[in-house]
Amino acid sequence: MTEARGRRIAVLRERASGETRVAATPETVKKLVALGAAVAIESGAGVSASIADDDYRAAGAEIGALDQVVRGADIVFGVQGPEPALLTGAAPGAWVVATLDPFGQRERVNAYAAAGLEALAMEFMPRITRAQSMDVLSSQSNLSGYKAVLVAANLYGRAFPMMMTAAGTVSAAKVFVMGVGVAGLQAIATARRLGAQVSATDVRAATREQILSLGAKPIFVETIAGIEGEGAGGYASEMSEEYQRAQAELVSSHIAKQDIVVTTALIPGRAAPRLITDAQVATMKPGSVIFDLAAPQGGNVEGSVADQVVERHGVKIVGYTNTPALLPADASALYARNLFNFVSAFWDKEAGGPVLDDEIGDAVRLTRGGQVVNARLAD
Ligand code: NAD
Repeated sequence: MTEARGRRIAVLRERASGETRVAATPETVKKLVALGAAVAIESGAGVSASIADDDYRAAGAEIGALDQVVRGADIVFGVQGPEPALLTGAAPGAWVVATLDPFGQRERVNAYAAAGLEALAMEFMPRITRAQSMDVLSSQSNLSGYKAVLVAANLYGRAFPMMMTAAGTVSAAKVFVMGVGVAGLQAIATARRLGAQVSATDVRAATREQILSLGAKPIFVETIAGIEGEGAGGYASEMSEEYQRAQAELVSSHIAKQDIVVTTALIPGRAAPRLITDAQVATMKPGSVIFDLAAPQGGNVEGSVADQVVERHGVKIVGYTNTPALLPADASALYARNLFNFVSAFWDKEAGGPVLDDEIGDAVRLTRGGQVVNARLAD
């Protein structure tokens, strides 16, 4: 009898610098085992997310060294894409399920193809209702939006809430959130909880109501139409020059009065739009803080530096590129559930493993049969 695909799932220890997350938790191991999978976890994979080898063992996983874990694996789980050289010994055509940074790591995608692996990029999951529970971008962005506000609050030399004390009044911090997707919404909610006065902007008109419902003030370009309705897959596109000029003017007049700015604006498959220039940073009060959550895609803020806190004109600019990794336990728990939901939604009892349908399969599959097959990567 040939062994059915998907029986054996390997979970690797992350090797990227600063990565603290892990792609499975004892909870998801238990559920995967209940589905009929054998789960092998590389020793130490969970340590930085506060999960010990023994916790995985108790959940039904086998623990081993890299080569033991990868040998014969039908599916390899990662947070970030593992180097193809680590996957020697995996079953022919094995799935690599991770965030693969397909545009940034094109060479690695080619190497997965050359190795005969089937690479599935979780960040390419379509934004459709039935895939919401598999959406790693949403689960991680939500935590990023939260943590960005806490990091900014920590670097800010003043308090967030208004306080009336015997020694006098401390005024509330003014927080401006640019880009109101998943991260931006959580940033608004978190800043509000801390007692800040919050305003926010986006190019998508639909976000106005969401901003208001969180008790924040919408700041919108009124003279030129933004994006009405939900765009293709719910994403923004690049805006016209005319819109960009109007937005820059609006930002210039607003930003000088802000203490904290969190930028989250992304356009899938492109560099992040530049929303704040150095000249605009210079108008802010010394001691203000900007958290540029778009730093991994090149940044929304002129002068932000990947993985550093820099100071420009007395303003601190945070450019961390892996903000979810600052919350390793929760980020891993949600990410691991996303992967479990993905695999279990497609689990086929007869095949003894997951079998993808066309809509989601074609969206996330980067390589198959030695070729790069994803339409978004077509040259
Ligand atoms: P994202 O990370 O791609 O972008 C963040 C935000 O930046 C978006 O709101 C975008 O409109 C905004 N933006 C882009 N260019 C801008 C600019 N020049 N100025 C200001 N803002 C700009 O977005 P996201 O967080 O992934 O979410 C995008 C949308 O998808 C949201 O409507 C979200 O609710 C929706 N969504 C749907 C599902 C689903 O149905 N399964 C899942 C997740 C998100």
